Amino acid sequence: MAEFLRAQLDFIFFFYGLAFILLGAACITLKNHDKEGLPWRLLASFGIAHGMNEWLDLFALSIGDSPAFSLVRLVVMTASYVLLAEFARLGTIRLGGKAPGRWIYAPLVLLIALAGFIGGLNAANAVARYTLGLPGGMGAGLAFAMLSRRLSGSEGRWAASAGAALALYGIAAGVIVPAAPFWPAAVLNYDTFFRATAMPIQFLCGLLACWIVFSLWSFGQQKILQGIASSVYVSKLYNRSVWTFVPLLVGMLGLGWGLTEHLGQMSQQGMQSDVKERLVLLVNRLYIETAAADNVAKSMAGSPWLLPVLSGGGERERGEANMVMDQGNVAAGGKGIAYLMDGSGTVLASSNRGKSDSLMGKNYSFRPYFQRAMKGEAAYYYALGVTTGERGYYASHPVRDQAGRVVGVAVVKKPLDSIESSLKQVEHFFLVDPHGVVFLASVPDMLFKTLWPLSAEAQRALEGSRQFGSLRYAPLLDREIVDGTTITFKGQPYYAGRRYTSHDGWSFVVLREPGAVAASRLFGITITLLFAVMTIIYFLRMEWMLHDKIMLEQRLELEEQTRKLDFQATTDPLTGVFNRLKFNQELAAWIARSLRYKTPLALVMYDIDHFKSVNDAYGHQAGDQVLVDISRIAAGHIRETDVLARWGGEEFMILAPNCDSRQACRLAEKLRRHIEKSVFGKVGTVTCSFGVAQFQDGDTAETLTARADAAMYEAKQRGRNLVACHESAASCRAAS
Ligand code: GH3
Ligand code: MG
Ligand code: MG
Repeated sequence: MAEFLRAQLDFIFFFYGLAFILLGAACITLKNHDKEGLPWRLLASFGIAHGMNEWLDLFALSIGDSPAFSLVRLVVMTASYVLLAEFARLGTIRLGGKAPGRWIYAPLVLLIALAGFIGGLNAANAVARYTLGLPGGMGAGLAFAMLSRRLSGSEGRWAASAGAALALYGIAAGVIVPAAPFWPAAVLNYDTFFRATAMPIQFLCGLLACWIVFSLWSFGQQKILQGIASSVYVSKLYNRSVWTFVPLLVGMLGLGWGLTEHLGQMSQQGMQSDVKERLVLLVNRLYIETAAADNVAKSMAGSPWLLPVLSGGGERERGEANMVMDQGNVAAGGKGIAYLMDGSGTVLASSNRGKSDSLMGKNYSFRPYFQRAMKGEAAYYYALGVTTGERGYYASHPVRDQAGRVVGVAVVKKPLDSIESSLKQVEHFFLVDPHGVVFLASVPDMLFKTLWPLSAEAQRALEGSRQFGSLRYAPLLDREIVDGTTITFKGQPYYAGRRYTSHDGWSFVVLREPGAVAASRLFGITITLLFAVMTIIYFLRMEWMLHDKIMLEQRLELEEQTRKLDFQATTDPLTGVFNRLKFNQELAAWIARSLRYKTPLALVMYDIDHFKSVNDAYGHQAGDQVLVDISRIAAGHIRETDVLARWGGEEFMILAPNCDSRQACRLAEKLRRHIEKSVFGKVGTVTCSFGVAQFQDGDTAETLTARADAAMYEAKQRGRNLVACHESAASCRAAS
């Protein structure tokens, strides 16, 4: 599980970063809906900056790191934590709490820079997390806790949830830091956390980031719902979109992860088979070279020209043996030495006699290849030459007399430089002895180092053997490679493979940069990101459209209500004509126009005659119907610009703009006749009395209506069912 999670570190960085970018987006939306709350702009900036920082970490992991790039990441991370701390500081102050001034950042940033100068980038990173990340996260959590206490219902609960997640995030990101050479970073760091929990800290931080963003997002939704006068319908729609969005995003991230894993595995398999092929190539090459030496040693040992010198022969016998050695050396490639040792380990014949490093007469009984051959076995040995210091493969074979007793040893030493240079086409290979000491390598400075830690026992054995000269013990890797595995070599991750040669315990190790695997995974992550962005944009659009639709519906409803209210305020409910209020407004407006444009204006007032008796005889309802019918008749007889209104119980008014009293009298007379002739159901005929008045200089609305009223009273007085004109009663009467 631990290794699995570690292998997913790139994807972990990806979703960690994505969560924070989403946090930024959620805060930008919140900023527009909650202007008096916490300083959302700062939290949004933190989310985006920190999300970017995680993605830069992802690039460093996948593509490769450099000190300059590390510095850039450190600066981005520090800046993001300053934003978080500033959010916490301002938020606390806004909610009535106490916090230090902005000056606090100066000493903190100075401290981080100082740590960087003294202890390097990791130290600065750790100090930045201690001084800004931890208080920033905890402070932000506190600000949310304060906010949640002022709120109620689910809004308050989501605020509290976001606060808890932020505080925990502050602890995780601010306490578990990169390893640095001081307390507590030396004890509590990424590595110790991983060893204790089998989980990379980034995984925990990523989960917490998801928790923060989900809480904040839900909190924002509640805020938006409040903003649009929450109705059950709206909240249901929102819930539905949330519960589609979250599973879709999670499912898509899951699919993306599957794709990333698949691409990575494919690339990994390619790399593994490539490493395997290289190993087979190396093992075969070494086998061919060493088997040639083995065969030559064996055939030399079988030569009949060796026994004479071994059994005490003189110069002639030695000469014959030397000839065998010369031929043997040529057969083994000509670059090494062939020699014959007697039973005590002293060299009796050799192919390099007469040279400065001649072996003649020297005793090498301490060499294991001699001791093994004396026991009757063909033997081999990898070692440095005692006089030359040159690396060589020593093939030895026992020389037996006629009775089958071992009387000497034939040896072929093959120098390994040539093998090494022919193998160099393979990058990063090592030939290691059974303990892990490097004997051949693609890079010279790796020679005679141990590839992985040696046991103390092996160390002692090797010190005494003179096999490899003096060893350099600092191991290159932290553990022995058993089979294909990922290891760290010189600070970079590598895929390592190992394969045993035909020689006991000796093996080849090949390292390969997993760059192709990382690139394949990055490709998968990029595709995931694209889909995630598309999903988010799609949902944001849906949400905006939903929001706009709701707003539009609300506006239309409001307009409709206003229209209704306006209608109710200006219309008489029984007859549908204007009421007295509206009539007064119209009258005032027309008086103003009349004064301005010097146009005439007349009023016709009329009242149903003996209406009381209509009610008495036929009932109130029949009376109402008469009122409705008379209104309809009047409405059918006036001009578009005339204003008809119900003045009181069974009294009506007609405002006739651009009419003088004469024209108004004609209108009234026409109406009078029409009503007189009409039959109103069971009520039969009904008549009305009309009074007409024209607007005159010095008139007000009151004096004008009073005169119309007086004229109507006059009509009633004079016998009803007639039109009385206040201005020129004579002409009116004439008209009637
Ligand atoms: P005249 O005007 O000819 O002098 O006699 P009138 O009987 O019409 O006189 P008055 O103004 O005294 O009576 C008005 C009556 O109108 C009183 C009331 O019963 C009736 N009335 C007022 N408003 C309504 C209404 O909304 N519906 C009905 N059915 N009757 C109404
Ligand atoms: Mg009346
Ligand atoms: Mg009346």
